[in-house]
Amino acid sequence: MTIQLVHIKVRDLFNGYQDNGLDGVVAYGGKLDVRPAYQREFVYKPEQQQAVIDTVSKGYPLNVMYWADQGDGHYELIDGQQRTLSICTFLNNDFSCKELFGFSRPLQFGSLPSNLQAKLLDYELTVYICDGTESEKLEWFKTINIAGEELTNQELRNAVYKGSWVSDAKRYFSKTGCAAYGLGSKYLKGTAIRQDYLESVIYWYGDQAMPKLDIEECMMKHQHKPNAQDLWDYFQRVIEWVETLFPTYRKEMKGLPWGIYYNRYHKNSYTPIALEQEIATLMADEDVTKKSGIYKYVLEKAIGNDDPSVLGIRAFGDSQKRTIYEQQGGVCPHCGKKFDYEEMEGDHITPWSKGGKTELANLQMLCQACNRRKSSK
Ligand SMILES: [Zn+2]
Repeated sequence: MTIQLVHIKVRDLFNGYQDNGLDGVVAYGGKLDVRPAYQREFVYKPEQQQAVIDTVSKGYPLNVMYWADQGDGHYELIDGQQRTLSICTFLNNDFSCKELFGFSRPLQFGSLPSNLQAKLLDYELTVYICDGTESEKLEWFKTINIAGEELTNQELRNAVYKGSWVSDAKRYFSKTGCAAYGLGSKYLKGTAIRQDYLESVIYWYGDQAMPKLDIEECMMKHQHKPNAQDLWDYFQRVIEWVETLFPTYRKEMKGLPWGIYYNRYHKNSYTPIALEQEIATLMADEDVTKKSGIYKYVLEKAIGNDDPSVLGIRAFGDSQKRTIYEQQGGVCPHCGKKFDYEEMEGDHITPWSKGGKTELANLQMLCQACNRRKSSK
């Protein structure tokens, strides 16, 4: 990995500047990808933009910026996007600045005298250009990003594992109103534009591989595939499976790891009507405190693994436990010995899974040893 320090004049940066909206922003003779397509929106406030121009006009240093060498004479801006956009949009006459060079009225770049324009154009930016293996770049980007204008992890990965596969994948998963939004936004967490959809689906896709791949390994494996049809097909299969199994939508379905469930369970056969009956019952059960766990629970239970731990079954409260403890006179009904309150635990006489509720009539206080013996049966 090499990191090279260079000085780039504002005039060279602005040369070829073009804002193509959602298709991205380029500068530096078209060779610098300032805002890779769909990566993020411009977020600087007017005062912050003004502060950048003020700094440049006075010849004071701006913080160092980071570009990634893409290896083909092109660069991607990793850190410094907002400062770069402030400079380029000012030179493009998109906004005016107050008190620039001592002028009292707000001025656009185009209305400055040419010697002052030249002063801005000759300002030198300090840029580190880095080149290295993809995993080196990713580590490095994550480090600098902590101090900079935060990109999400997936935005960083998109920069590092750039290629035909991720470009095509972004068409499906990364644009406001993208195909994935139409098909699955109600099942996905986060937003498309900050790459949450893409992150989820690549994570799921890698999880089904043999051996399992993490997000970075998965992106590296597919990086140079001509398109991401495979990923899109996979996502469609996941959503179709979810909609077939669970035709009744509930808000708890949003943001669940559906791809992971698909990978684990899609080869089993389920009866949607039976699943729905069970879900409705569990949703209405006030002892189930973690409603989002219901889906995993019913998928597991139907294949013989009844594990209520994913449901957050309500525990007995302190006042309930005190009441029963006193009624029992501190004696454990299983072993007949006497214990301090702190040494005993609340136990469902009839387990929740057999219909027992978290209520006084179904509570007994057991000593820890007896309670453990009962649970392991
Ligand atoms: Zn006991």
